[in-house]
Amino acid sequence: MLSFDDFKISNLLRNAISDLGYKKPRPIQSKSFPVILSGKDMVGIAQTGTGKTFAYMLPILQMLPFSKEKHPRVLVLVPTRELVVQVVAEVEKFGKYSSIKVLGIYGGTNMNRQKEALTEGADIIVATPGRLYDLILTRALKLKTIKKLVIDEVDVMLDLGFRFQLTNIMDLLPKRRQNIMFSATMTSNVDKLINEYFIGPVKVTVALSGTPLDNISQTCYSVPNFYTKVNLLVDILRNNELYNKVLVFVSNKKSADRLFNALDEFYGSETCIIHSNKTQNYRLRSIKQFDEGKNRILVTTDVMARGLDLDKISHVINFDTPQYPENYMHRIGRTGRAEEKGASLLFFTENEKQYKEGIEDLMNIKIPEIVLPDHIEIATRLTPAETPKIIELNNPTKRNSSEEGSDFHVKKDKNKRTNQGGSYKRIIEKKYKKAKTKGDKNYNKRNKRK
Ligand code: AMP
Repeated sequence: MLSFDDFKISNLLRNAISDLGYKKPRPIQSKSFPVILSGKDMVGIAQTGTGKTFAYMLPILQMLPFSKEKHPRVLVLVPTRELVVQVVAEVEKFGKYSSIKVLGIYGGTNMNRQKEALTEGADIIVATPGRLYDLILTRALKLKTIKKLVIDEVDVMLDLGFRFQLTNIMDLLPKRRQNIMFSATMTSNVDKLINEYFIGPVKVTVALSGTPLDNISQTCYSVPNFYTKVNLLVDILRNNELYNKVLVFVSNKKSADRLFNALDEFYGSETCIIHSNKTQNYRLRSIKQFDEGKNRILVTTDVMARGLDLDKISHVINFDTPQYPENYMHRIGRTGRAEEKGASLLFFTENEKQYKEGIEDLMNIKIPEIVLPDHIEIATRLTPAETPKIIELNNPTKRNSSEEGSDFHVKKDKNKRTNQGGSYKRIIEKKYKKAKTKGDKNYNKRNKRK
C-alpha cells in the first residue's frame, strides 16, 4: 500500500493523519496494517524512527469500537518512562477526533494519582512493566478486558531486566488476545519470549538488524584516551552551525557525568545530560530543552536514549565504542530519521578497536577513518580506568581488586543472587523438603513433630 487512501480507515483517522501532515505510509506501516487488522499475532523488526508507533496504533485505533467499558482494552508496554510520555502524546494526536482515552503509567511518580486516573477509566494504557505490575498487585488495575497487547522495544525491555514483570503481566492477561511486539534487534531472549507467548506470529521486517540506514554518513577517529576524546569533541563542536543538534553517546553513567563536567567549561549552557541516576523530572527537562533546540548537545547513555523520539538530530557522536554492535546500530539510528540526512562519528581507543571491527563486520562495511588533526592536544590526564594499576605484592593493606578505581565494580555477594521465581515456595520446599500446600496447613507442623 503506497498511499493512505489504500488503508481501510475511518474519516476521523484520515483527518488526524492529514492534520499531522503525513503524506504517505512508511514501509513498516504498510506492512503491519493488514496483519494487525487480521487479528493475528505479529512480530515487527523495526528500528526507532521508522514510524513503528503509528504502525501499530493506526490499525488498533481503527479496530477499537466505542465502548462504555471503563477497564482498558489495549495495553502497550514500553521500557522507559520517557517512551510512555512519547507514545501517549502520539496516541493523542492520532485519536484527536475520536473519544479514545489513553493513560500513561510509569514509576517514579505518585502511585495514588495514577490509581485515581484509573478509576476514571481508559481505553488504552501505555505503561512501563514495573509500575503496571505494582498497580495490578494493589488491585487498582484489572486486565481481564485487555484484547490487544503491544510490547514495544522488547530488546531494550529484556536488557533492562524486565523479563520477570513482563511474563507475570502476560500470565494475567486473558488467553484470547492479540499479541503485537516490536524489537529493533532479534536476540535469543526475544525469540524465547515469542515462542512462549505468541501463537503463529507473522514476522514483519523493514530493515535487517545490522543494516545501516543508507542516509547516514559514518566516520571514525582513532583517539588515544578519554580526555583526548574530550579535546577532539570540544574542537568539533565549535562549528555550531553544522553541529546544531548533537547526541553524544557514552556507555555508562560515570563516563556520562565525567564528560558532562569536562564539557561544562566550553559549552556549559549548551549541554544537557540524561542517565538513569538522574531524576525523572531532570531527564524530561533535559530532553525537552534539547528537542526544542535550547540546548544543542545532549550527553546520554545507550539505555536512556533508545526509543526516544528526538527530531532532526544533526550528528550522533559515539564518544566510546559500544561493545555490542547492535548498540551502535541503535545509536546511529537516531540521526537520519524521517528520511533526512544524518551523520555519525565514532571515537575509538586502541582497546576499543576490536569493538569497532565487530561493528564493521555486522554492517559489512568499513567505517572511513579521519586522522586525528594535529592541533588536537593529546591529553596526559587519565581516567581511573585508564590509569595503569600498580601491583604491589604482599601489601596486606591494599585491597585485592583488579578493578579498583575503575568505572566498574564487582558485585557484592548479596547482589549476585538471581531471580529464580517463586521464591517463597522454593524456600519452604528447601526447609521442609516438601511443598507446603494450601489444603493442609498443618502438614509441616505434623512432620516436624515426628
Ligand atoms: P517512531 O518510529 O514511531 O518513533 O516514529 C518516528 C517519527 O516518524 C515520529 O516522529 C512520527 O511522528 C513520524 N512519522 C510516523 N509515520 C509517518 C509518516 N507516514 N509520514 C511522516 N512521518 C511519520
